Formats: sequence, structure tokens, C-alpha cells
Amino acid sequence: MNNELNRQSLTIGTFFGIKLRVHYSWLIIFALIAWTVISGVLPAYYPKLSLGVRVVDGLIITLLFFIAAIAHEYAHSLVARRYGLIVKRITLFLFGGASELQNEPTDAKTEFLMTAAGPGTSLLIAALFWGIWAIAKSQHVTVIEIIAGIDAILNLIIGLFNLVPAYPLDGGRLFRSLVWLKTKDVISATKAASYLSYVLSYAMAAFGILEVIDGNLVGGIWFLILGLYLHQLTRASYQQTLNQVLLSKVKVKDVMETDFATVPADTPLENYFNDYVLRYREYFFLITKGERVIGELEAAKVMRKKNAFYDQSVEKFMQPLSEKQFLKPSDPAAKALQLMRQYDEHILPVVEGKKLTAQVTTQHINDYLMFYNQHRVLNNSSSRR
Ligand SMILES: [Zn+2]
Repeated sequence: MNNELNRQSLTIGTFFGIKLRVHYSWLIIFALIAWTVISGVLPAYYPKLSLGVRVVDGLIITLLFFIAAIAHEYAHSLVARRYGLIVKRITLFLFGGASELQNEPTDAKTEFLMTAAGPGTSLLIAALFWGIWAIAKSQHVTVIEIIAGIDAILNLIIGLFNLVPAYPLDGGRLFRSLVWLKTKDVISATKAASYLSYVLSYAMAAFGILEVIDGNLVGGIWFLILGLYLHQLTRASYQQTLNQVLLSKVKVKDVMETDFATVPADTPLENYFNDYVLRYREYFFLITKGERVIGELEAAKVMRKKNAFYDQSVEKFMQPLSEKQFLKPSDPAAKALQLMRQYDEHILPVVEGKKLTAQVTTQHINDYLMFYNQHRVLNNSSSRR
């Protein structure tokens, strides 16, 4: 998902030290909203407007609405940063935005404040537009009255919609943080938020089916899809929380691999493929110079270059690694995952003293989680009998 977002996103700029990117799906939504305002909302409420005025007003309304959506996302990120979390970037896409955090909040209060900041900002902006609307109406400045009025309603809808307790959306996160605050236990809080979210998703799906039976085919299917999508999203988030908690309890030494091959920096690309990738059937290798790790190379990244550059050394194509990315066996496994996210790496070295003793890949971590979860399911089902 993150990789997909990366590839199909456009960087707009860096504001407050946080990179802002837009996914192409956002442009579709922009066009959809502008079109709805220009051809639906404006003629219904202001039938006397000419087409030219409607187009200009519609575009300004949509632009302001999108700036407000960006403010919503920045509010999340800035509060998160204020409480010590590292925000990698903000990506805006179809269903709103995503502030990509390097680490999740570790206490309920931080989660509550950083989540509340988003809908809070939307409602504040709605109030602001409402104020402008009221003044413009009393002064008979119709253009501003129209723009402010519609943007007030749009932001009110966004603010309220985000308070619906569907986890992991804003409302669901707020609900979780409140339970978390009370129980002091993030797992039971996530469980409670997930159950509420499941109920919502079933209700949406059931409503969709009833609508279809009632003859509203398109609207019904829409609700059915949203319900199923929410169910998926909730389940994935719940699992992610369980995994994070688990990984904060186990150590790097529990997930690392000690039996592995490294590739000397002067190895030609052709040998890298034949003697390492094909022989060991691994995608990622650490690159060494003498005893030192100096980088890593992913097979997929040089797949297309391997014929043209077969005699050149892997050092030319590798991704350099610095000591900041080195792990110790005693580090929590969660740190490995955090560093991998931070640096977009799939493999990291484990170093004892100065000596490379093991490696950790995303595959190892996923395997560990998979086996652990299966083991737990087996244990649960046997204890129930
Ligand atoms: Zn939000």
C-alpha cells in the first residue's frame, strides 16, 4: 500500500518541515466535487448565476475546500510532532489523507490530542466560513456569501464524518484513546474500538443490501462496498496493533538470522545474481568491505541492469547503510521495523561490538508474526475445548 502510494504520488512541497504529497486519486475527487458544485449545488440554490460565474465560484469553493483538508491533515501531524512523534510525510488520497508516522503514539493522551486536532480543525474552519457567510449575507456580497456558505457546509460534513467511530478513522481512534485512557491497556482498547467498528461495517453492509432490495441499486452497492472496505480496514489495523505490541516485547535476537551470506563490495553484478541471488534464493543481501557492512542490494532493483552492467561491481548499485541503521541483538524487534520504515529498507545488519553477526529482513519479521499468530490461534482453540 505504501509503495503504491509512493509511486503514484506527486510532491507538492514542504510545509512546516513536513513533505506534502498528492496521490492522483485526489485529482479525480477534486474534479468530482467541482463538477457537483458547478452543475448541481449552485444552480439549485442560486439559479440566476451565469455559467461563467458558476465555474469560477465552483473552482474557488473546491480549492478552498482542499486547502481546508490539507489543514486538517497538518493539524494531526503538527500535534503528533509536538508530542515527540516523527512525521515522515503527508500523502493525500481518495479517502482523505494519511500522515505517515514513523512510530505510533505510546500513550492514550497523545493519541487523543493528535486525532482530535483533525476534526477540530475542520469544525473550526466551518465556523470561520459560517462567520464570513453571515457577514457577507448582511452586506449583500453574494459572491463571498456563496463561497463561504458552501465551504462552511463542506467542512462541517468533513468534521462530523470524521467523528463517526469507525476504526482506524479519526472517530474510531478517538474512541480507542478514551477506552485506552480508562483501561490503561492498548490491546483491550483496540479490541473495543474494533468491535464497534465491525458493528458499523455490518450495519452499513446490511443497509446497502436493503437498499438494493428496495430498488436503489447504485446507492445500495456503494454502501455494501464501503461496509466491506471498513471491515477489512478495521481487521488490518487491529492485527497491526497486536503485532506492534508483540514486537515491542521480543528482541532483535528472536527475529534475526545468523546463518546468511554477505556479498563483497567488488563482486560483479553477474556474479551477484548467479552466486548469491539464484544460489540462496534471497532478494536482499548485505554488502561488505572486509569486515564492515557498507550497504545492501535488492535483486529487483538491478534486475534490468544486470545484462548491460554485468561486469560492474555491486558497490555502484547498492544502497549505502550507516551506523544509525545498525541493530543490536538486545534491541526490541519493534526498533528493527521502525528503522526499516524510516529508511525504506528491507534488510538491516545486526552488529555486536564492531562485528556483523546477523541480519534482519522484513520477511523474518513477517514470518515470526505469522508463526506466532498461528501458534496463538492453535493455543486458543485447544484451551477452549
Ligand atoms: Zn483526520
